[in-house]
Amino acid sequence: MSPEQKKYFSRQTKLPFLGESGQNKLLQKSALVIGLGGLGSPASLHLATAGVGRIGLWDFDTVELSNLHRQTAFTLSDIGRKKTDTTKEYIQARVPGIQLETFTEVFSERIDPSIFKNWDIILDCTDQIQAKYTINRFCIQNFKPLVTASVFRTSAQVAIFSPHGKPCYKCLYPNLEGSELLSCEDGGVLGVQTAIAGLYQASFAIQHLLFPEKSPTQSAFQLEWESPLLYETFLKADPNCTECGSGKREEIFREEIDLKDWKEWKKNPKYILLDVREPEERKETPIVDSIFSPLSELSINTASGLSKEKIYITICESGIRSRKAAKILKEAGLTAYSLHGGRKILVLEEIL
Ligand SMILES: [Zn+2]
Repeated sequence: MSPEQKKYFSRQTKLPFLGESGQNKLLQKSALVIGLGGLGSPASLHLATAGVGRIGLWDFDTVELSNLHRQTAFTLSDIGRKKTDTTKEYIQARVPGIQLETFTEVFSERIDPSIFKNWDIILDCTDQIQAKYTINRFCIQNFKPLVTASVFRTSAQVAIFSPHGKPCYKCLYPNLEGSELLSCEDGGVLGVQTAIAGLYQASFAIQHLLFPEKSPTQSAFQLEWESPLLYETFLKADPNCTECGSGKREEIFREEIDLKDWKEWKKNPKYILLDVREPEERKETPIVDSIFSPLSELSINTASGLSKEKIYITICESGIRSRKAAKILKEAGLTAYSLHGGRKILVLEEIL
């Protein structure tokens, strides 16, 4: 530890179970934080202030005004900037001598799973179910502990899974694929609940890095705003789990395309971009060269009016509602894919 770090961590190294040796141990450890929103903002900062020596910051997105009520690493003047850059500066301004690495790809199946090998623990701070399943799978493949959290409206869930991956995230939530999951954008969220959940993630991660044997890896915790207690649910590994058990992983239903595919495909007139957002969103932020059919009015019935000769690429704001829309179109016998990441990705790549 440098003299500056010794002073910085002096209140923490007084802790009898930590001391300077424990602090040095933590400074040798690393954590990868995927998603720098309402969970990742407080989680990454508190990993750094605790002295986790190397932290990975992963997010493809840029800061928007509607993020700020829960994503506390950002200021009004950061709007439009990359979340990775802003978070890095935010941490650097507060914590000396921590190594920070940034990743700006969209987190998807296409990421090389072995990237997890470089990290001691992974924090899933995303709000996309597909990303959560992929992170869980990569953790199991690489024997890495995973701290996951999600917040819906006023209700937060946090869990830590051991490097042996039994039980795993998929044992806890086997069938969220294609469910009615809503993002913060669609369902609303109380900012303070995301902060609490993010802090629990950092706390579980720090405990695991120091004392893995004490980690509550057989439980999930739920926090309800209406009755602020942490409810513990004991978990059992599902022997039929498609990730950690003997269950055969289902074939991936290829209902999503990513930006690379879309850049290729959009030259072909066979492909039609179908905006499934609501009329006011379309008015506010139009998507050029798209036709319009809001998800709220889309059904197998209404979709049957669309041409079977065409291939529909559904798009919404962040890629959640569009998955649902693609599913409806498929059920109506059409060919459809959802654009991963939604309009945000197109804006980011300056396609819109
Ligand atoms: Zn499992």
